[in-house]
Amino acid sequence: MRIAIVGLGTSGATLACLLADAGIDVTVVEQADDPRPVGAGLWLQELGQQVLDRLDLLTPLRAVSRPVRRVHMTARGRTIVDLGYDALPGSKPALGVRRGDLFALLLSEVRRRGVPLRLGVPVTGVRPTPSGIAVETAHGDLGSFDLVVGADGSRSAVRRSMNVTSRDRPYAYGALWAVVEDPDGSSTDTLFQGLGADTSTYLGVLPTGRSSASLFWSVHTRDLQVRAGDLDAWRAVAAPYAGPHTGLLDRVTELLPASYRDVVVRSPFRVEGRCGAVLVGDSAHAMSPQLGVGTSLALADAWTLGHALAGDADLPRALATYARRRAAHVRWYQWTTRLMMPAFQSDLHPVAWPRDHLARPLTRTPGVAPVLVGVLCGDRTTPFTRWHLPDGA
Ligand SMILES: Cc1cc2nc3c(=O)[nH]c(=O)nc-3n(C[C@H](O)[C@H](O)[C@H](O)COP(=O)(O)OP(=O)(O)OC[C@H]3O[C@@H](n4cnc5c(N)ncnc54)[C@H](O)[C@@H]3O)c2cc1C
Repeated sequence: MRIAIVGLGTSGATLACLLADAGIDVTVVEQADDPRPVGAGLWLQELGQQVLDRLDLLTPLRAVSRPVRRVHMTARGRTIVDLGYDALPGSKPALGVRRGDLFALLLSEVRRRGVPLRLGVPVTGVRPTPSGIAVETAHGDLGSFDLVVGADGSRSAVRRSMNVTSRDRPYAYGALWAVVEDPDGSSTDTLFQGLGADTSTYLGVLPTGRSSASLFWSVHTRDLQVRAGDLDAWRAVAAPYAGPHTGLLDRVTELLPASYRDVVVRSPFRVEGRCGAVLVGDSAHAMSPQLGVGTSLALADAWTLGHALAGDADLPRALATYARRRAAHVRWYQWTTRLMMPAFQSDLHPVAWPRDHLARPLTRTPGVAPVLVGVLCGDRTTPFTRWHLPDGA
């Protein structure tokens, strides 16, 4: 079987390692000449850590990351949520990770396995041919493969050409972000979110790596570029939301824009005869990063697909197994993030009142905190049921 993976991000690099380990002929095609991660720090949940552990990458990642043990949310300076991962016995804290550290580990594993990389090649789509699935680029086809994996992120060209999208909506709100040095450890082991009086304003502070912090500032997408341009004005507006972190605002030298999409596919795979195309990660289910589970879902996809392909030589059946195993888990997080978004980043300002007045009593109600922590850990299919990684790829 010859497989092409489009995209050398988290899911693509992980899957490349798993397929190479299974002795499958795999090539990775990436649009960037010099692939590097783009974006702020990551809040990496327990599920994602489990996948990295199976690749023996968790210990080195932990060595350069910080545990995130609490979520502390304030509204107009008053605490509305103070939730520790220890509310759920046996759960593991998240990790505050520099994207570059995770990417460097994955890339070195891909290179160590000798996986061929085609860099600087933007893929425009895929199409069935008599000899397999062709990978299309602006300069012609790259060749035909038995399987093409779209691991090319939320704006996936592979997804578009597969014609499986049932929902692809940009969110009205995005974020400006920066990663700054935090030598005094002001961000400690806590994800801090300072909310405004309405549902459009918040400042997030995430411990990132050993001595940095990521700042996220909620902005309507129409203002992303404008706000990014005037740092002093931004500092003045953001300071009242920063709680104990106002000192970090002075360290920001550049704000970068990020926007999110809400993507749902009818099916993450298509089969043409004995060949096919399949989607993993954001290309299959982009969502808002409110819950910080996107990377964990991408890693779980890669693990599950790798396991299905390594364990079943019948490609259509292996793809159907992958889709079936991932469906309930993905659907739960799609709905949860979509339902949460109006309370944190929307124009539905009346929602702020119940949010600010109910969150504290709710999270203190016996039994609620463990459920919320379970959802944060990234492995739920309902508030009370867990999704499990298939065993050994
Ligand atoms: C502001 C923000 C904050 C976030 N915070 C968190 C967080 O705290 N925790 C968390 O778990 N998740 C977070 N996420 C989500 C997380 O970043 C994604 O879910 C995750 O990176 C998805 O991985 P992926 O492999 O699917 O795609 P990506 O990591 O996006 O990789 C896609 C790769 O495909 C390549 N590519 C794209 N198009 C093409 C093409 N046409 N041809 C060839 N190559 C192509 C890209 O260059 C890239 O290398 C956040 C997202 C945003 C926007």
